[in-house]
Amino acid sequence: MTRAASAAAQSAGFVVIGSGPAGQKAAIQAAKAGHDVVLVERECAVGGACVRTGTIPSKTLRERATRPRLHGEPEAVERPMEELLAGVADVVEAHDRYMTAQLERNGVRVLRGQARFLGPTRLEVLRISGPSLQVEAPRVVIATGSRPRAPAQFSIDHEHVLDSDSILSLSWLPRSLLVLGGGVIACEYASIFASLGCRVTQVDRNHRPLSFIDAELTDVYVEALRAAGSDFLPGVGVRALHWDGISQVRADFDDGFGLARASNTTPVIVIRFEAESAAALERIKGEFRRALQPLKPGAPLPY
Ligand SMILES: Cc1cc2nc3c(=O)[nH]c(=O)nc-3n(C[C@H](O)[C@H](O)[C@H](O)COP(=O)(O)OP(=O)(O)OC[C@H]3O[C@@H](n4cnc5c(N)ncnc54)[C@H](O)[C@@H]3O)c2cc1C
Repeated sequence: MTRAASAAAQSAGFVVIGSGPAGQKAAIQAAKAGHDVVLVERECAVGGACVRTGTIPSKTLRERATRPRLHGEPEAVERPMEELLAGVADVVEAHDRYMTAQLERNGVRVLRGQARFLGPTRLEVLRISGPSLQVEAPRVVIATGSRPRAPAQFSIDHEHVLDSDSILSLSWLPRSLLVLGGGVIACEYASIFASLGCRVTQVDRNHRPLSFIDAELTDVYVEALRAAGSDFLPGVGVRALHWDGISQVRADFDDGFGLARASNTTPVIVIRFEAESAAALERIKGEFRRALQPLKPGAPLPY
């Protein structure tokens, strides 16, 4: 048992770990079905990636990006990101209030802290302040979401080489940007930054972005990117990234031409946008498996 853990565990019918869209829905549904529900969230606001780093901030930035074209405003290049993200904090706060009230209305107890399994039905909640708590429940829903993937060959310093979370902490909108990847989030940010007046070079090993949708549609996306003065380079992988210590990140492309292309843009900020839930989930599943080890082979699981 952890040093400061309270000896007596709180009991609940259901524990949900994570307050993103998945965790909230699970908690509310379980409460509506008559269960006594505890929701554990390690961040200070409920809502998960959707509210803090994903949907809401990116849509706020997109809204800002469409304004120059719609309202004839000047391009946003070299303007502070804080200005472009104005209003996000208010939206996040309003969302937190709304969701907290909804959880309260449904009788869901919210515990702030990092949950980990102590046993198949017992969790410890490590809190920033105050002693850790324990919760015992026959059913636990793991809704811990995803985080951006960090490819082994790159070092993401979150200053010059960023991921889809740290992109929002840029101080200034850069003049140019290299986006690695052709998935949904990569395309979203590539098109937003291009619309804001930033020169974007998007590269992907695939021959077209968003390869899971029809080519006619992805052609329109690539044409729009090019019309905004940016580009999509198909069939290009990046081997390595080097921050020159002054103003540029240089990318070595697999085809050997990368340096020349990348060094045309000053400065280059490189982003890797690929969310992957597997890593976080595997860690939690590992804890869960370890917790299950004392069970005898063949013993029925408590679920
Ligand atoms: C840039 C971007 C744009 C997006 N745009 C859209 C969009 O337009 N439309 C759309 O539908 N989706 C969008 N998404 C995806 C959407 O954000 C996710 O699909 C959604 O948030 C997943 O919800 P979730 O509940 O599974 O996980 P999350 O929202 O990631 O929530 C998981 C929660 O679990 C908590 N947690 C993790 N581990 C623990 C632990 N051990 N103890 C306690 N708490 C823990 C985390 O703090 C987090 O709050 C976007 C994502 C990104 C990154």
